[in-house]
Amino acid sequence: MTLHTTPVLPRTPRKLENLIGGKWFSPSDEMVRNSPAHGVPVTVVPLATEADVDQAVAAAKSRFDNGGWSDLPAAARAEVLLRAADLIVERCDELSLAETLEAGKPLWQSVNEIKGAADIWRFAAGQARAIHGQTFNNFGSKSLGLVLREPIGVVGLITPWNFPFFILAERLPFILGAGCTVVMKPSEHTSTTTIMMGRILEDAGLPEGVVNIVTGLGEPVGRRIAEHQDIDMVSFTGSTRVGRSTIIASAGNIKKLSLELGGKNPVIVMADANLEKAADGIVYGILHNAGQCCVSGSRLLVAREVEQALTERIVSLMQRVKVGDPLVPETRVGPIVNDIQFNRIKKLVDDGRKSGATLLTGGRQIEPLAGYFLAPTFLADIRSDMAISGEEVFGPVLAVSAFDTKDEALRMANHTRYGLSATVWTEGLQDGLDLVRGVKAGRVWLNTTITGGPEMPIGGYRESGQGRETGLSGIEEYTEVKSILADLGERGPWVP
Ligand code: NAD
Repeated sequence: MTLHTTPVLPRTPRKLENLIGGKWFSPSDEMVRNSPAHGVPVTVVPLATEADVDQAVAAAKSRFDNGGWSDLPAAARAEVLLRAADLIVERCDELSLAETLEAGKPLWQSVNEIKGAADIWRFAAGQARAIHGQTFNNFGSKSLGLVLREPIGVVGLITPWNFPFFILAERLPFILGAGCTVVMKPSEHTSTTTIMMGRILEDAGLPEGVVNIVTGLGEPVGRRIAEHQDIDMVSFTGSTRVGRSTIIASAGNIKKLSLELGGKNPVIVMADANLEKAADGIVYGILHNAGQCCVSGSRLLVAREVEQALTERIVSLMQRVKVGDPLVPETRVGPIVNDIQFNRIKKLVDDGRKSGATLLTGGRQIEPLAGYFLAPTFLADIRSDMAISGEEVFGPVLAVSAFDTKDEALRMANHTRYGLSATVWTEGLQDGLDLVRGVKAGRVWLNTTITGGPEMPIGGYRESGQGRETGLSGIEEYTEVKSILADLGERGPWVP
């Protein structure tokens, strides 16, 4: 970690403003966000109204229609993205602390995410310059076919609280690089770094009205974005429940949607796996960000002959890992994001136990500080009728089941309505390839987990979403395709 200042809790909460058409202002209503680790107020978040969203959309549409961004050479847009990347790195300390105070994640992790985000902005700048279409010079000498990619228009961008700045980076520079304008709404729990990004973009030379930010609650702000007739596309990242309501709200003008939703992600451990490596990876995969990752590996499926050896290793690591103050460098696991989530997770664990699940470790609140901390939790004897076996928990809770054959492992892995990610641990090439090819998920890891780079596309199968962000074609998500057929000769009469 390379922080240049010593992190301290703020004496007074930071007051945020919204950005519409290049002007910063404060909607009259507001809410206070407390640090989930320390219980002290850290941010005052404006609660925008439907009318604020309408104004933001009007500003984004006006900028899109009147030029000054979508019609610039991609190289000019890329310059802004690259300057923004430099400013993200320059402001890393401030961004990281804000992220940790609102999201509760360890500060060293926030630093890594902010630096990783800068890298994505740079990648997207390159992608912007690579947008291209196709030509068809094979219609004969009198016709020419052109396929153009054009920016789709005004994009609504709705993001969750678990990786506020990183998820923003996986989407916003691609939207901007494509030439679109944006109205964005961060989660009400973690709005600060999105607002800071607005300032960074101003300082990087982004023209007014290209990026507009409205903060506040899903209802009305997110819903109004999803249903707005002048928004051409919505990129939504969040729960499958709200994703489904976004599909319905977006139907009015048949918006294009990119949806990155929930997961119930399997981790398959074959008998020949390196158990030491696998155990560490599994513990990281479920405790990273306190299990609040869309790709957290929460369903452990293990070959019966190594079940005991593996579970013992996992229990020992879970009992050793440091849970506590995210401002302390040794901390690996911070708090749950808020009391509602904490109580939901606790209830899923308690109900599972009442229905016969065995608690191997954890399952209780711990109180290193005032916030909502759950001891890393590991459950066995899970049955498919228990809520904990099918529902996304979104917390530091792992559940184990055993299998006897590879086919059974694959059946169990695919027995879910989700399809976001999966992880396979094996030393066998054949088994490894069979499993990574057989599992139905948008992201799959073999002998590692929760890692990657902007080169790789992300997204889900089934109820985990639709569309793909990042990757070599990530920027194309935010474009429309236009076919042009030009007649270069004498077009013959249709009516003789
Ligand atoms: P959420 O669905 O509650 O909220 C996500 C965003 O939607 C927030 O900004 C929220 O204010 C807004 N929102 C709420 N109600 C809305 C409505 N009616 N219309 C429009 N917007 C509305 O999700 P969350 O609790 O912030 O995040 C956790 C969820 O996100 C988990 O299910 C997780 O798996 C998922 N997630 C998915 C990915 C992915 O890439 N697949 C990444 C991160 C998180």
